[in-house]
Amino acid sequence: MDEFRLIDAIHHAVRGPADPRVRIGIGDDAALLAVQSGQVVVTTDALVEGVHFRFDLCRPADVGWKAAAVNLSDIAAMGARPLALLAAIEVPAALPERAVVAAMRELARAGAAHGAPVVGGNVSAGPLFVMTVTALGEPVNGRVLTRSGARAGDIVLSGGFLGSGSLGLDLLGSHTEWTRRFPTLARAYRRPEAQVGLGLGLAALPGVHALIDVSDGLVADIGHVCAASGVGALLDAERIPVHPEARRYARLTGRDALDAALSGGDDYRLLAVAEPSTAPLCEALGMTAIGSITARRGVAVTSAGVRVMVAGAGGWRHR
Ligand SMILES: [Mg+2]
Repeated sequence: MDEFRLIDAIHHAVRGPADPRVRIGIGDDAALLAVQSGQVVVTTDALVEGVHFRFDLCRPADVGWKAAAVNLSDIAAMGARPLALLAAIEVPAALPERAVVAAMRELARAGAAHGAPVVGGNVSAGPLFVMTVTALGEPVNGRVLTRSGARAGDIVLSGGFLGSGSLGLDLLGSHTEWTRRFPTLARAYRRPEAQVGLGLGLAALPGVHALIDVSDGLVADIGHVCAASGVGALLDAERIPVHPEARRYARLTGRDALDAALSGGDDYRLLAVAEPSTAPLCEALGMTAIGSITARRGVAVTSAGVRVMVAGAGGWRHR
């Protein structure tokens, strides 16, 4: 690998239109950004070959897209507006330069879709392909949504279908021959879409008390909100949105679509907690009410009024 040639090719691939907020972009020792609000939201997340993705299941461009999307999803989960991306990558000697460039080009494309240009990064040699992305964002009107504002009596809402990401991984790993038959599942895993617009819409609603994105799984992530807020949650299995493809795939393969929705990760849908009078406004933004917040700690899931799952300190179990 000719490092300088690769860096040059990456610069070319990630270049986008001029952004007035980027006073100094790629090419100097560091970037200089102009921010209006005086506050910056920052997050970082790595995609590691063999841990978070495999090149036999995803193309390099998919990896680049996802590396941006998972970070933008965390910006969205604060209700913030994306500002910029940085990418520190490790490149194995055997990986073709065009694969690295394709990954970085797609990372930049995913960022540009949400107004976040790539403003810097680093390239180093390593044993596996790793993309460590840092995303910066700005709060709008000085407000961010955290995990800690949920109150008993609040409504829990999902920003979209759950379980598609983990069933997509199952599809790509176990039933590659059906990838064309279940395009939504494959796409959910390879190309998640960060719900940036939804996060901004929620941040504008005073009655939204808490926000998180589903990366570990619905039960685990609402559990994070509950732990941070000192409350519990009761979810209604019948109301959890599951994509028709997920139901069909689960039926064909003997997988459990509800289990995938509850405990599969990789969905990157926003999960909001709002007071009851605000829930219809969240629904008008495309969200679905799936349960409520309780004073009693822990996360429970009911189906037809019967408790089917309880999550406590020692993880969750089926009832
Ligand atoms: Mg998150």
